Amino acid sequence: MTPRRQNSTTGRPPGFVYRESKHGMLRRSGQFVLHAEGVALTKLAAQYGTPVYVYSRETIDSRYDVFDGAFRAVPHTICYSVKANSNLSILRLLARKGCGFDVVSGGELERVLTADRKAARKVVFSGVGKTREELTAGLKAGILLFNVESESELSALAECAGRLRRTAPVAVRVNPDVAAETHPYISTGLHQHKFGVPIREARALYAKASGTRHLKVGGVSVHIGSQITDVAPFGEAMTRIAELVRALRDDGHGIAYVDAGGGLGIAYDQPEPADFCSYVESYARALTTPLQGLDVHLLLEPGRAIVGPAGVLLTSVVYRKTNAGKRFLVVDAAMNDMIRPALYGAYHEIVPVTMDAGKSEVVDIVGPVCETGDFFARDRELPIVAEGDLLAILDVGAYGMVLSSNYNTRPRPAEVLVAGKSAKVIRRREKVADLLRAEV
Ligand SMILES: *Cc1c(COP(=O)(O)O)cnc(C)c1O
Repeated sequence: MTPRRQNSTTGRPPGFVYRESKHGMLRRSGQFVLHAEGVALTKLAAQYGTPVYVYSRETIDSRYDVFDGAFRAVPHTICYSVKANSNLSILRLLARKGCGFDVVSGGELERVLTADRKAARKVVFSGVGKTREELTAGLKAGILLFNVESESELSALAECAGRLRRTAPVAVRVNPDVAAETHPYISTGLHQHKFGVPIREARALYAKASGTRHLKVGGVSVHIGSQITDVAPFGEAMTRIAELVRALRDDGHGIAYVDAGGGLGIAYDQPEPADFCSYVESYARALTTPLQGLDVHLLLEPGRAIVGPAGVLLTSVVYRKTNAGKRFLVVDAAMNDMIRPALYGAYHEIVPVTMDAGKSEVVDIVGPVCETGDFFARDRELPIVAEGDLLAILDVGAYGMVLSSNYNTRPRPAEVLVAGKSAKVIRRREKVADLLRAEV
């Protein structure tokens, strides 16, 4: 097995690379240790314990820059999807780069405002079930756009805005009925899904919005799903949206914004697309070509594409065991820490933190939780590791920590952000006492 990402062919500094170990007097030649930027993961595990999430700041920075750069030809704002990774420090570093935010709850809105008060004017609020409290919070904060998903929500928003004597900027989230190849749980753009308003019914809803006091039509929004790696469906959706924008303008609506949503996928099962730049450029072309001549401000809501490859979950092997010839590595992380394999059957590459030129074996990598679904990998070929050794589960920067829980009364892991040679805890490890505090 060759260590992944040992060399960068992409011209950008890779976040996680193996470097030859320089520790110890009897340094064995050919021993490589996985680093986050300039910091050995062995060192972070010793310092902060395991399981622990480790993020590379440079990776987030550079992926944001690539994304932003790909859309340089058109007026645009990137509204990072907070639900992918909502750690305050990560929101703050993106806000400092001029990034906006897509939130799907009052809690996420509060996180954004905590990270940066001034970011409110770059916030779009999505979600199929915003409550009146959440709508009111968005109005008070003065956000950029409410992506409304039903006639009832439109009425509720008008009512909340009226009470505050404010005007709510509105886009209707349109369901374009476009099929995108992804996991059924994260595909959202078909008419049978709960999301959005069928595109054929959108014009009627815009008419209603325009005729309602305290609402101001500002744009059209769409989001067809997540982890979509073929850019064609994005183009298809945007072609339908462009048609709708023309029709709405003919109807007299002021459509300034097109919110294209998020959903661009990453490569979980292979090394990063050799060139993230040209991948995002092709995505940008798919989105912007149908919009040519429309003179709209494009909003983009990437989550996974920005932070996914920027995080690893470090875990220690607690036990090796063999059941009727089948080999298991029982690790100290579990489905409560990172649920994607259990929830979606998702593939994550898993590598030993210390890489020797040794033999490999086929193993299941499982957690200690009492569920058969508590696994990170099945029948995976992995270099042979011993009890106490460290493994890194890759590409967990998105939908990792945010989906964690306290199942089995397991305190959630710490999160550490690495920048160059320095590392900082950006969320301390939970204690059992934290979990008990809210209970009677
Ligand atoms: C989840 C979500 C996103 C982000 O999706 P990614 O696949 O992480 O890019 C963007 N917009 C909306 C409305 C979402 O629900």
